[in-house]
Amino acid sequence: MSQPLSPCPHYIGGEWLTATGATTPVYNPSTGDVIAECPAAGQTEVDAAVAAAQAAFPAWRDTPPVERARVFFRYRQLVEQNFDLICRTVSREHGKTHAEARGSVFRGLENIEYACGIPTLLFGDSLKNIARGVDCETVNLPLGVCVGITPFNFPAMVPLWMFPTALACGNTFILKPSEKVPLTAILLGQLLEQAGCPKGVFNIVHGGRPVVDGLLKHPLVKAISFVGSTPIAKYIYDTGTQHGKRVQANGGAKNYIVVMPDADVAKTVENLTTAAFGCAGERCMAGSTAIAVGAAADRVLPDLVAAARAIKVGRTDTPAAQPDMGPVISAAHRDRVLGLLASGETEGAKIIADGRGVKIPDAPRGFYLGATIVDGVQNNMTLAREEVFGPVLNVMRMDDLDAAIEQANKSAFGNGAAIFTANGRAAREFSLRVKAGMVGVNVGVPATMAMFPFSGWDDSFFGDLHIQGKESVQFYTQQKVISSRWFGGDVGDVWKK
Ligand code: NAD
Repeated sequence: MSQPLSPCPHYIGGEWLTATGATTPVYNPSTGDVIAECPAAGQTEVDAAVAAAQAAFPAWRDTPPVERARVFFRYRQLVEQNFDLICRTVSREHGKTHAEARGSVFRGLENIEYACGIPTLLFGDSLKNIARGVDCETVNLPLGVCVGITPFNFPAMVPLWMFPTALACGNTFILKPSEKVPLTAILLGQLLEQAGCPKGVFNIVHGGRPVVDGLLKHPLVKAISFVGSTPIAKYIYDTGTQHGKRVQANGGAKNYIVVMPDADVAKTVENLTTAAFGCAGERCMAGSTAIAVGAAADRVLPDLVAAARAIKVGRTDTPAAQPDMGPVISAAHRDRVLGLLASGETEGAKIIADGRGVKIPDAPRGFYLGATIVDGVQNNMTLAREEVFGPVLNVMRMDDLDAAIEQANKSAFGNGAAIFTANGRAAREFSLRVKAGMVGVNVGVPATMAMFPFSGWDDSFFGDLHIQGKESVQFYTQQKVISSRWFGGDVGDVWKK
């Protein structure tokens, strides 16, 4: 019998603590094997982490921004030196191919680079003589203890969207990673410790709802950053704000890609394939529905179907040559996607590239699905409305751009949207009218980089200030406006000889 796995440690007050109590299994989705146990923390760990972060706050807040930035210059170097290890860990616990893992960790690295610029990002405004002898300035001050709650699909990138900027602004931080992918978070924490981040400034607690609820309601927690599914994002926003916290909560998505009849066929097929099937479709910016306008369907679909059928699926947990696509996160998630496909068929849609029967001989218990395209999807179908979050591309057909925009704008979500066209006017019209916070023009996945906000709308975002970019600095700071005036003192008139 194999040895029981010891649970992943919490990281509280600079100590890696052996967890006790209940755990949940962490899988290698490529094989279906359990590779770790994630502890389910409770109020005791929440209280300890908040106390450690609160105790560390005054000294970290008073550390000059240039010194805080230096921690992140060192962190950047350590993440770069350990890049392969981080990417392998992401592939092992999440299932991304090595190339996908590298791309995502690189996006995270750019967020560390952004945080290195904190001395200038924290600049305030000033105006002399707002009234006679009175000067005014704004200063951007940290909030205190901030919390990040992250999803399974980007084990390195999403935590790195949050804690480098939060910490560089002078806050302390508690990360609650997804219980499905705790190993990458631990590695990121170990490297931050090596970079010289003081004890208690950064903490990790593992678990599910009880630990999240404890953090959401704790009186000393000032701000919550959340990324995950829409129902939980809404719950986090409602509960966090009811308890007086600042909250930014990114939710799920359903992103439309409109293909005009004049679009470059080869480039559109290449981009649609990547947008729909990259990361096995487990991306909030996945292009999950193509709207083919007029003759676009006949021009693009044959090559698109061929491209989907050519996608090689396989295990991503070995150094061997990588497949084009890895597994999805769990057996339950694979079965949910299969259920949505079955509902689409029952409701009248047609599967024109079918990845349901994919078998991986050397990993028969892995969580695999092949690339699947469903044609004839109508707005009233469950498949059209719910986020699928798997390697599935829905195809809808519309007569003109107006109808395509109208369809895209029916979505409850508002994360991303894209158009493929050679016509500038169509692109402009679409960009301005489509109801989505991130728009691509001949760009299939318009996910933003560190210096721009990750700008979801509607059911894809709850809050006011988005993650990343200047909005993120605003989110993690509070402004104070100082008006000052100096009267003559007893020192005499020192300006005159
Ligand atoms: P999830 O909502 O199930 O979990 C996210 C986090 O919330 C995890 O840390 C989890 O432990 C916690 N959680 C889960 N259920 C909870 C509950 N009942 N109460 C309190 N906390 C709870 O999301 P997931 O399945 O890990 O991630 C996939 C989802 O994330 C997709 O919907 C995807 O679109 C979304 N996502 C959005 C973005 C974005 O920027 N908009 C980015 C990445 C992923």
